[in-house]
Amino acid sequence: MIRSLSGPRTKPAGIVLRDARELALMREAGRIVAKVHQALGAAVRPGISTAALDTLAERIIRDHGAVPTFLGYRGFPASICTSINDEIVHGIPSPHRILQEGDIISIDVGATYHGWVGDSAWTYPVGEISPQAQRLLQVTEEALWAGIAQARAGHRLGDISAAIQAHVESHGFSVIREYGGHGVGRAMHEPPSILNYGRPGTGMRLRPGMTFALEPMVAVGHWLTRTDADGWTVRTQDGSLSAHFEHTLAVTEDEPWVLTAL
Ligand code: MG
Ligand code: MG
Repeated sequence: MIRSLSGPRTKPAGIVLRDARELALMREAGRIVAKVHQALGAAVRPGISTAALDTLAERIIRDHGAVPTFLGYRGFPASICTSINDEIVHGIPSPHRILQEGDIISIDVGATYHGWVGDSAWTYPVGEISPQAQRLLQVTEEALWAGIAQARAGHRLGDISAAIQAHVESHGFSVIREYGGHGVGRAMHEPPSILNYGRPGTGMRLRPGMTFALEPMVAVGHWLTRTDADGWTVRTQDGSLSAHFEHTLAVTEDEPWVLTAL
């Protein structure tokens, strides 16, 4: 139960504040993740397989002295998640999944560096995409930044959730409700859970040193999801397109510090 929110020296159970040395290590993890995304962005094109993207990402992560956070996580068989079109998250790279002109692909990357995790997802266009897909990508990325802008000391968790939801819904899209952001640090998933919908002024008060992964997942249609028989791939129930943008950040005394930006 989260009760003691107001006292300056208290925080909800399980939430850890990172010091400057720890944040510097998280920044290194985040920088590696950003470099992977830079390379993936250049590699995404019609004709490439998602397994080739996975191989590329793993090599860059390991070349930087880090390990792929996702590989083996609860049995996940790859270093990145690759989710195409109506797939929202947790798609498994495969040599048989070949990107086609007009696809969109969400790629989630995690790197662990000296025990600290960086986690960031981006949705990429494959060649020329439809105007609707372009709008989905733009609105989802904007929603991420709207959430990041609320990640300030003294604000509450619900301020982040509400900002993301308001931006998405003002453009006629829906936020996925069954998955959301999270605390991140020593482990990829730490408390708190950070919903992509909610009410401003509610929830935990934010303090410097908290580290979060914010990750709006957005559907053109309804937010209901289903999971494939592989036990991983999550897609929209109605088959509508979905996008996913994520950054790892630290709450500071001032502006939020986006740890997974270049
Ligand atoms: Mg992620
Ligand atoms: Mg995440």
